[in-house]
Amino acid sequence: MGESKKRKRRGGKKGEEEQQAIPSPSAKRTKLKEPSTFLEKMRARLSGGHFRMINEKLYTCTGKEALDYFKEEPSLFDMYHAGYKSQMSNWPEQPVNVIIKWLKKQSPSFVIADFGCGEALIAKTLKNKVFSLDLVSSDPNVIACDMANTPLASSSVNVAVFCLSLMGTNYKSYIEESNRVLKPGGWLLIAEVKSRFDPNTGGADPEKFSNAISELGFKSVKKDFSNKMFILFYFTKKEKQISKRKEIEWPTLKPCLYKRR
Ligand code: SAH
Repeated sequence: MGESKKRKRRGGKKGEEEQQAIPSPSAKRTKLKEPSTFLEKMRARLSGGHFRMINEKLYTCTGKEALDYFKEEPSLFDMYHAGYKSQMSNWPEQPVNVIIKWLKKQSPSFVIADFGCGEALIAKTLKNKVFSLDLVSSDPNVIACDMANTPLASSSVNVAVFCLSLMGTNYKSYIEESNRVLKPGGWLLIAEVKSRFDPNTGGADPEKFSNAISELGFKSVKKDFSNKMFILFYFTKKEKQISKRKEIEWPTLKPCLYKRR
């Protein structure tokens, strides 16, 4: 949204909000419940604003910049995840749950790498060995790193998951990293927001996205478009890696920005 539009929407309201935010003692006496409801609304509005700001930052910078951003102010990470949760509660189906359902049908001996794990739901739900990776470690089991450079050994995992986490402008380096850590024949699952692939609004062509990953050395097994809010891509890593490949054309994934409600 343009800055001028934003200002227009907020225009004239600020004074009003500030006035109401401090209720007079008489208002307190007569309507005890109102100020808290109002404060709750204010809090929700402010945290919504913070969430949108952090979200926009993450979609428009590199993973390295995002890592530095959170290193400087780790509390922004919790703020981001509170907003993320609230946004996701509007979705009819959570992509991470669809992925968990699929993982439950696979071998329990599969080692999983959850790239951009957030609250590490996969590790918390499954008995498999799971490497949970994110920019900030909100839990002792989460490895804090930029997922373009993970501490995982090469050819060490059976499944690499990216669930709504291809946020950085350098997303191709995350896929390359997953290629490095995956065993030959291993699975790569990517769930991404549908609107990022809507060519009518500047999104990437899902075929081009899938082709770029295939050129890296993967086989596209399935694309699931059945969910309203996200697309789920399933790939397997080819047994034989391409030693010399041509320059891959990675389509730009449109940032997923949320509107003010
Ligand atoms: N996969 C989780 C969380 C999705 S939110 C789920 O589905 O619930 C996206 C997450 O990706 C955020 O926690 C964000 O911090 C993380 N992320 C984005 N870029 C990253 C990077 N370069 N390295 C590590 N994590 C990253």
